[in-house]
Amino acid sequence: MPARKVVVVGAGNAALCAALAAREGGAEVVVLEVAERELRGGNTAFTAGAMRVAYNGVDDLRALMPELTDDEVAVTDFGSYPESAFLDDVARVTEYRCDPELAALLVERSYPTMLWMRDKGVRFMPIYGRQAFKVDGRFTFWGGLTVEVSGGGPGLIDYLSKAAEHAGITIEYGARAVDLVADDDGVHGVRVRQHGRTRTEHADAVVLAAGGFQANPEMRTRYLGPGWDLAKVRGTRYNTGDGIRMAIDAGAASAGNWSGCHAVGWERNAPEFGDLRVGDAFQKHSYPWGIMVNAEGRRFVDEGADFRNYTYAKYGRRILEQPSQFAWQVFDQQVIHLLRDEYRIREVTKVTAPTLEELAKKLDGVDPAGFLREVTEYNAAVDTATAFNPNVKDGRSTTGLAVNKTNWANRLDQGPFEAYAVTCGITFTFGGLRIDPDARVLDTDMRPIPGLFAAGELVGGLFYFNYPGGTGLTNGAVFGRIAGIGAAQTP
Ligand SMILES: Cc1cc2nc3c(=O)[nH]c(=O)nc-3n(C[C@H](O)[C@H](O)[C@H](O)COP(=O)(O)OP(=O)(O)OC[C@H]3O[C@@H](n4cnc5c(N)ncnc54)[C@H](O)[C@@H]3O)c2cc1C
Repeated sequence: MPARKVVVVGAGNAALCAALAAREGGAEVVVLEVAERELRGGNTAFTAGAMRVAYNGVDDLRALMPELTDDEVAVTDFGSYPESAFLDDVARVTEYRCDPELAALLVERSYPTMLWMRDKGVRFMPIYGRQAFKVDGRFTFWGGLTVEVSGGGPGLIDYLSKAAEHAGITIEYGARAVDLVADDDGVHGVRVRQHGRTRTEHADAVVLAAGGFQANPEMRTRYLGPGWDLAKVRGTRYNTGDGIRMAIDAGAASAGNWSGCHAVGWERNAPEFGDLRVGDAFQKHSYPWGIMVNAEGRRFVDEGADFRNYTYAKYGRRILEQPSQFAWQVFDQQVIHLLRDEYRIREVTKVTAPTLEELAKKLDGVDPAGFLREVTEYNAAVDTATAFNPNVKDGRSTTGLAVNKTNWANRLDQGPFEAYAVTCGITFTFGGLRIDPDARVLDTDMRPIPGLFAAGELVGGLFYFNYPGGTGLTNGAVFGRIAGIGAAQTP
């Protein structure tokens, strides 16, 4: 019997995991990627490669990262991140809206899927730079995020693409999927436009893994709401919702938080789309150590509500809601050493001044008197009796303000001061296609559409309002693999 043919749309993390799993299942696999080879990798290539995974202790991590040395283990508290904690985090930050079955699968399969990726050649390492603090000579991990891909997002794409080529998978670049070939019996292929010519790629099963609609200003405004046309896109320009549209045209049901997305504080003058040269360094994620003010000079979020990786994904929206869609992050000398590496790149809008009065004049677009009034009130409200400790939610807070800061509140009183201008950078959209636990796309009668699978960003139902950092890649890998396995099987 000839091998089943599987067409995968997209060549990011979810797509390549699907392609590898389908190939492992014996299928002939063709991957269609709209970007040319030099711009390949989708949003995946823009990531730092952080991957959230459930583990029970350092032995699990050593199986995932055999390169870990005894010396590293000796100076590091890796702790554990049991499945129950991962599930709690997903449930809590999505305000208990996440699809329970999909969330449970994501969590349970996170570790075995990453071991499988390792077998395919992906190399992991501890994410020391961003998720651990060194105290008294020991590294302590925090926030449940411990592992990253060596080489970050570009590294992940290299590993997976090499594995795909090695496995005999064909990857067609510059190939835009435009429509599904579908009838009452399900999906039989994809219409594809490549280098100006349109053709049909027949298939026994299609896996859609073409990302969300964040790079499509029209869809952003239609679904996320007015103002979202003004957001900057953090990643690829190619995730314009094609996969979602194609499936809905073929009768698929939608699911999830269509008015929601992952969006962060992002360099105010960044280009419209991501720039692979800069990657995710336009993000500005050290706001828990300082304050953020808007054009009126007012604070508008609790910068210390939680560890950064539980708040950063929703604060982009809050910045977009401010007058003229910008904010300044302000820090003093007590915390400058805690600023992440992304504050040290050349492409920043930064001002410094020895005093707050001088800084106020330099904050472009901000009412200086409003800013000074805000900082005076803020400084007076800081509880200095509690010690500042960036490794834990220290409870060092303000009291009596309209917007209090719950942790890591320091008086801004030690110049020179530094301030960084940010706007809203959208990462990915949360609404998408409805799938079942086998990654089969469901139709509007909630029945699987024969021959159609989906994985990654274009799936809806997992994330609402917010998301725990590092879950996007794990989501793509887990459901990409499930989709690939299903697509290779004769129904
Ligand atoms: C700056 C940044 C940093 C991030 N950091 C992290 C992180 O550290 N950890 C984490 O877990 N997540 C992170 N994310 C989120 C993460 O990137 C995504 O959740 C994940 O990569 C999505 O994978 P995917 O395979 O679904 O989509 P993608 O990797 O975007 O792949 C989709 C592919 O489909 C292609 N495509 C689109 N339309 C078509 C079409 N019509 N025909 C053919 N191909 C098409 C696109 O070109 C693209 O290559 C980050 C995102 C950004 C932007």
